[in-house]
Amino acid sequence: MQMSCIILCLTSQEECFIILVKTKGAAQMSISKTDFMRGMQCPKMLWLDAHRPELKVIPPETQRRLDRGNEFGDKAMAMFGPFEEMTAYIPGTKYLDKRKMVQKTKDAIRRGVENICEASFDHDGDFCAVDILHRVDEGVWELYEVKDSPEVKQQFIDDAGYQAWVLDKCGIQLDGVFVVYHYDDEVDPFEPVDVTEEAVEFAHVVNENIERLKAVKESKTEITIPMGEQCSKPYGCWYCGYCEKLARQSSLFD
Ligand code: SF4
Repeated sequence: MQMSCIILCLTSQEECFIILVKTKGAAQMSISKTDFMRGMQCPKMLWLDAHRPELKVIPPETQRRLDRGNEFGDKAMAMFGPFEEMTAYIPGTKYLDKRKMVQKTKDAIRRGVENICEASFDHDGDFCAVDILHRVDEGVWELYEVKDSPEVKQQFIDDAGYQAWVLDKCGIQLDGVFVVYHYDDEVDPFEPVDVTEEAVEFAHVVNENIERLKAVKESKTEITIPMGEQCSKPYGCWYCGYCEKLARQSSLFD
């Protein structure tokens, strides 16, 4: 059986940690958009999502904000007119059937659907669902990431950049990448902003970091990272309670 060692240098933190991860020729773990973004904020967050998700505590206000965002995203699906939505669930569960979503998307592209919502793509297990994939010409598309926010934030552009990376790997020709934010207009609140250049820049960041984050997710050993700025930026971390408890325990023995 093949053995390998990967040395990780987590430079996104204030301090730099070296971690040795041993793998045994196991199937390579995949990274979704959510995994990637959370792993870039804090590798330990990604590890906990993969191995100890029961420790997360989502504050009620955050859950309400996520629900409002979903409602806004649902309304935005019609911003270019008729559309088809690719969302599919594993029967009897609330879990997405990603394989089916990818198949549905391929079929929608083949049938010439102009607006594909939750358009799903998979490159070697790295998955994303695009809020709106809008056809501008034969085989040429624009990608729209919808956010229920009064402004465009860097993390939204990064989200779109990850998706652009996956679509590029899947051979989809993109002509533009946009973030749609919540404009102050009750009739037409969907305001697209062209972020193509910045999203392409972030796609390079994806290329440079995806293998590192796969190794973090795959690690059997819990990684050690002290709490810091990353616990609240850009998003409040749902594992703060757990990490605070760990910090208290370790200070008792200092
Ligand atoms: S609380 Fe902070 S250190 Fe712990 S997982 Fe979250 S971001 Fe990382």
